[in-house]
Amino acid sequence: MADLLGEDTIVALATPPGAGAIAMVRVSGPRAVQLVDGAFTGRRSLQELPSHLMAHGWLRGVHGSSAEVTIDEVMVVVHRAPHSYTGEDLVEITCHGSPLIVRQILQLFCARGARLAEPGEFTRRAFLHGRLDLAQAEAVCDLVQARTERARRASMAQLEGQLSQRIAQLQERLVDARALLELDIDFSDEDVPSWDRQLLARTLEEVGGELRALLRTFQQGRFLREGARVVLLGRTNVGKSSLLNALVESDRAIVSELPGTTRDTLEGLVDIGGFPVTVVDTAGFGVAGSEIEKEGLRRTEREVEKADVVILLLDGSEPLQAEDRRLLEVYVPGRGRTVIPAVNKIDLPRAWSPAELGAGRVVELSAKRRLGLEQLREAVVQALIGDGFAGAGDVVLTNARHWEALRQAEEAVRRAGASLAQGLSAEFIVVDLREASEALGRVVGGVSDEDILASIFARFCIGK
Ligand code: GDP
Repeated sequence: MADLLGEDTIVALATPPGAGAIAMVRVSGPRAVQLVDGAFTGRRSLQELPSHLMAHGWLRGVHGSSAEVTIDEVMVVVHRAPHSYTGEDLVEITCHGSPLIVRQILQLFCARGARLAEPGEFTRRAFLHGRLDLAQAEAVCDLVQARTERARRASMAQLEGQLSQRIAQLQERLVDARALLELDIDFSDEDVPSWDRQLLARTLEEVGGELRALLRTFQQGRFLREGARVVLLGRTNVGKSSLLNALVESDRAIVSELPGTTRDTLEGLVDIGGFPVTVVDTAGFGVAGSEIEKEGLRRTEREVEKADVVILLLDGSEPLQAEDRRLLEVYVPGRGRTVIPAVNKIDLPRAWSPAELGAGRVVELSAKRRLGLEQLREAVVQALIGDGFAGAGDVVLTNARHWEALRQAEEAVRRAGASLAQGLSAEFIVVDLREASEALGRVVGGVSDEDILASIFARFCIGK
């Protein structure tokens, strides 16, 4: 894998551009210390500075056609290989946060022989130097992008190696089983005690069960990473926009710079039980008359199609209307638990009882008086988690690549189990066990294909 590592020294801004009073520029590669030292003036040279100590000084360089000038007053830390984030010599320069200064520093180091880093290149080097396995490297990206506490915890667990450990345990069991079978193949003429079919069947059952438990966490993991869409559905005047406002105005609205999440687009991004959730208000279902209204209803249908969870809102203070009944008929039975019936305006005298709906769990709330919102959030979390918690402990699969690899491993284990049950010989079973091991290996590493690595690290931001 070493051939994937260039000898280049790379440089990048490691903090968001223009974000604050200070910024950090990172330089990594075999010549990093020498390269920065050539532009640094301080009490002593960086080449003599012990690892992980901070030095104060100035960066000087030629800018444009002028003579050498001081660019900035800086603090510098040298992390010597292999004890650095990348596993190479790494220099971190803390400078003033002006975009102009940062640009001049990047230009200075590029003029001295570094090149600008690609997205994720620091982490990619950490992986290639064996500082992190692939699952951990991918967790760095998720950690940086985590928008809620639950998402942060899931990425941190993966970065700490919890997923990797689970994979390693499963891998060990598969390898042990295979070793016994291979022994049997090699010594089939001799009188070696043969392997125990029942024991192997049990092992395969357990490994398959663990893989399935991990796979089930993926839906939850996807919601943690990409967020979920919750659509408010109901006829006009039941209180959909009031409910959207109530959810967004609580202290759990997620501040986002993404376009389309401002309030006037009729959606809001909120933290519901640790999931980043986009709540979408839809055009009310009235009696469709005009063309504009019909178009609104078509849009609503499309939103419902895209939704992960639908909240079907009803007005508890007025008798149910034909339109409410139609929505209940169409949406509640067909979509299972992803539709949450909710009764609004419980601060007013009730015109009917939720039991009349016969729709299982019904959430009662008042958007105007902010009542019952916590129960509504709980119902949404239940719908998002599904049965994803069963048996997987703290590990949550958040990555589609991992999911695909584990799915292939699970299939191979299942095939091995079927061959075993049919009484096939060891050779057949070994083939599937080897395939399962290879698939598991792809989660934590064992990927040397340049294109795959490039696509993994391209998701990262620059400077990570
Ligand atoms: P939408 O057409 O479904 O978006 O409904 P709105 O949110 O515009 O609400 C319709 C009317 O119901 C407005 O006058 C709201 O003030 C009122 N409303 C909404 N929620 C409640 C509630 O919980 N209690 C009461 N008393 N009125 C509410």
